[in-house]
Amino acid sequence: MPFSKFGLDVALLRAVQKSGYTRPTPVQTAAIPKVMLGYDVIAIAQTGTGKTAAFVLPLLHHLSQSSGERDIRALILAPTRELAVQIMENIRNYGQSLPIRVAAIYGGVEEEAQIKALRKGVHIVVATPGRLIDLLGRQKLDFRILKMLVLDEADRMLHMGFLPDIEKIISHLPKRRQTLMFSATLSKEVESLARRFLYQPKMVQIGKRSNPADTVKQCVYEVSAHLKNALLLELIRQPKFTRVLVFVRMKDGANLLTNFLKLAGIKVARLHSSRSQEQRLQALQDFKDGKVQVLVATDIVARGIDIDGVSQVINFDFPVNPEDYVHRIGRTGRAEAQGEAISFVPKQDLNLLGILEFSISQRIERKRLRGFNYQAAATTSALGEKAPKQDWRKRTRELETKKSTPLNKRVSQERAKKNSNSQKS
Ligand code: AMP
Repeated sequence: MPFSKFGLDVALLRAVQKSGYTRPTPVQTAAIPKVMLGYDVIAIAQTGTGKTAAFVLPLLHHLSQSSGERDIRALILAPTRELAVQIMENIRNYGQSLPIRVAAIYGGVEEEAQIKALRKGVHIVVATPGRLIDLLGRQKLDFRILKMLVLDEADRMLHMGFLPDIEKIISHLPKRRQTLMFSATLSKEVESLARRFLYQPKMVQIGKRSNPADTVKQCVYEVSAHLKNALLLELIRQPKFTRVLVFVRMKDGANLLTNFLKLAGIKVARLHSSRSQEQRLQALQDFKDGKVQVLVATDIVARGIDIDGVSQVINFDFPVNPEDYVHRIGRTGRAEAQGEAISFVPKQDLNLLGILEFSISQRIERKRLRGFNYQAAATTSALGEKAPKQDWRKRTRELETKKSTPLNKRVSQERAKKNSNSQKS
């Protein structure tokens, strides 16, 4: 079915054409007609398959047909700030020749500009739950005439930790509305939770419930934990590793690994929740622009984020549950491009690998890097001649202490050191 058969406004058809899309993706073909008809929809489709346009296009169509009053008609909720910004950019792109206004509401930045945008009037709000609840409590938003609610990455949004926030937000919305839920994975339990917020939803399911994208080639390297740094460095020095997204479990781990790679001469940025919003956006931008070869990130980047041409996703730390694995590796092989997902599995994580393979009904290929010393005792010795000159652990410790010690204290420490040295001599 071509885009023209959906009955979308011509301005949207033009925008689709301008984006270079020749035909709708399967999730678009299945979901757009249902959303156009006003049904509630639960859509499960592999990540990177054009889900955003599947809800943004019919939403913009509905808005283009109603009066121009600047009242909030649609709310889109997303689990991370980056995803909220990305959805807003998609709306601006597809709706570029429509008089539709959109604002993104998320934490980590000054709220003033966001409140100002709301005061001026917008038709669509894209938000993360925290800041939205804060502004709702202070009566900065009026959802009385809202017509549509979208939950992107719905499984994450309905996760136990988020659920009370979502319930609170939904209690502020009109009961008669259209509700859409989009997700790459959706367990049966989460689906039954979701149904509380939907009215006789139509289901759209493309592929299996939690299937890694078919365009991603997967493999694992069984490697001792202390050799993961060395193996990573060895791999990313190969020419085909052009834009590499490396996932780690903890923020500290992200900092340590970034410092290690920097010292080895790799251009690298890091992204985790303790960084300022400005730093987070900058890291993502530098990675998208190709200014850095590697982005080291925690799972906040795993969901929904669309980065063109990620050549490899590397699970430096193995993901704790299969859903996270599916989301992480979906950052590569997007829009039918070939991608590669590599996972490091030390002995202690072999059980997690077993659970994953059972869950995706697939055995993942085991690989070994030729010439790599898997028996080496220390990180650097496995690298042979290519080892970074500095002792990275020592240097990282130095950098970390420097950062956490205030300048005046550092100056007096230096002075004391000098004095004791001169006394000795
Ligand atoms: P999403 O799953 O929404 O993150 O989209 C993944 C990528 O697919 C984005 O880069 C979109 O621009 C692209 N895309 C969306 N719809 C189409 C389409 N019909 N044809 C080709 N690419 C598309």
